[in-house]
Amino acid sequence: MNAPSLTLAVLLLLVMPSIAFAPMQTTYTPLFDGVNAYSYLEAQCDFGPRPPGSANLSLCRAYIKSVLESFGWIVTLQNFTYKETECANIVVSWTETSNTTVLLGAHYDTRPNATEDPIQANHNLPILGANDGASGVAVLMELARVLPMENRSGVKFVFFDAEDSGYLNGWDWIRGSTYFVSELNQTERDSISAMILLDIVGDANLRLPKETSSTDSLQNIVWNVADEMGYGHIFLGSYSTSILDDHRPFLDAGIPALDIIQVPFPWYWHTLEDTPDKCSAGSLSVVGRVLEVFISGGTPSSYPLDQPILLYAGLAAIALILVSYTVIRFRRR
Ligand SMILES: [Zn+2]
Repeated sequence: MNAPSLTLAVLLLLVMPSIAFAPMQTTYTPLFDGVNAYSYLEAQCDFGPRPPGSANLSLCRAYIKSVLESFGWIVTLQNFTYKETECANIVVSWTETSNTTVLLGAHYDTRPNATEDPIQANHNLPILGANDGASGVAVLMELARVLPMENRSGVKFVFFDAEDSGYLNGWDWIRGSTYFVSELNQTERDSISAMILLDIVGDANLRLPKETSSTDSLQNIVWNVADEMGYGHIFLGSYSTSILDDHRPFLDAGIPALDIIQVPFPWYWHTLEDTPDKCSAGSLSVVGRVLEVFISGGTPSSYPLDQPILLYAGLAAIALILVSYTVIRFRRR
């Protein structure tokens, strides 16, 4: 073998693996549609404020149930009473006997009083909860529409009631999730490998630092997926603080749990200004796509953006080989 041929052989050996393995990688293109998710957010707000026990919340519950059933999911209502108020968690699974591995949650009730509103007279009025409530629900509804069929039996969605009435009329926070976990037997607890909670994930200027009580290993996996997808400016590497939220009862039961939540809370949190115009389809899309890739088991390297990069790298290498070969041949003459 002469020198030019040897050079060519070495180049081919270096380049071939990337070309050969590129088509073998698990590819997964997220189907999550942020505009669709935003329409679910608006539809919830169209019912008006949705505090526990209200007619508006009943209508919204029926709406969420009907949409999920239209996607083929099995929806059951887990009724419970708290302080003489009829409440219900919405439990969604793909089969009657699904072995849950990932449980995705969000609260669908809204705070009965705008206790953080700058106008004192507004404190007795209920909030619309576009971001605080509807955003997390909207992302989960769109995920339920687009999740690959082969992943559905390993997923359960729970929409919690009675999360956001803490300190009002003697109410506590997170009553729906607390009730849900209290009803799980040990086998059911063991079947949940991860609980992921979405809360306040719709702000147009979304920033998600890591919540400090969440399970580190689970949080890091999800954050790595986000980072590899180019969303490191939204899923921040910094830490916020510990939040009392619907993931807490799961942590207390020994279940790995993660709260994806914007902290500090947006300026309109628990005010009458928590309206759809503060949220964006783009933000819902980022959160939804990260979860879609995470659940589909797609490794970060399987994000579709990587495929063109590999393809272009391969084509560039081939071009380089051809040019080198031609130059070498030309010089030998
Ligand atoms: Zn709240």
